[in-house]
Amino acid sequence: MKVTVVGFWGGYPKMNEASTGYLIEQDGFHLLLDCGSGVLSQLQRYIQPDELDALVITHYHADHIADVGVLQHALLIQEALKGETIILPAYGHQEDESGFSSLQYKELMRAIAYQPEQPLKLGPFTLSFLRTRHSVPCYAVRIESSNAVVVFTADSAYQTSFIEFAKNADLLIAESNFYSGMDAQSAGHMTSEEAASIARDARIKHLLLTHLPHFGNLNQLKKEAEQIYDGKVQLASSGLTITYS
Ligand SMILES: [Zn+2]
Ligand SMILES: [Zn+2]
Repeated sequence: MKVTVVGFWGGYPKMNEASTGYLIEQDGFHLLLDCGSGVLSQLQRYIQPDELDALVITHYHADHIADVGVLQHALLIQEALKGETIILPAYGHQEDESGFSSLQYKELMRAIAYQPEQPLKLGPFTLSFLRTRHSVPCYAVRIESSNAVVVFTADSAYQTSFIEFAKNADLLIAESNFYSGMDAQSAGHMTSEEAASIARDARIKHLLLTHLPHFGNLNQLKKEAEQIYDGKVQLASSGLTITYS
């Protein structure tokens, strides 16, 4: 499995970068997890949009879905130029009807509801879902393949259920939208310290801090996490890849 950080900023992208998007690949299967602002542009550093095999959306906040519309346009234009039929299945929850229906576009992008209590098989991956604590319905995702387990918290305040959900994962991609000691909970987000405590308690091998804030010194987030958790801690950055074989 190969994980590429396409975008990692919380709320909106900094110049020439993107908000949330991760490319998850194995055996020639390309899964895009969230499609925030700037993701379509950044994605083209790695693959062409029409090479995607599936899109999975955690929730319908703009920093996670802003580029779905332009991805649809890219598929439309590439289909016309190549003369080949393109169909991209887009998986989202159905608890926000207008958000979910925005994933449907002509025959090119097909909105499919994931059932949060049921595993979802996509190519070499099996996904499972956990409801998060956020201002709108949102789901964390656990992705398992033959050689790795990767868990993404999506957007959430701290909740103890993350520990069981993320248990023994190779990689935890945890949102850390606030610094240690701040009130992240009322914003529906986590601090570096809370993200690190999940990594520690779930016996995670590698913690990637993401959904990063637009204030403070980001290296401080890493230092704060390292005080709680002994494993490897990294800050998400554009184009960072983590490969399992
Ligand atoms: Zn967000
Ligand atoms: Zn959100």
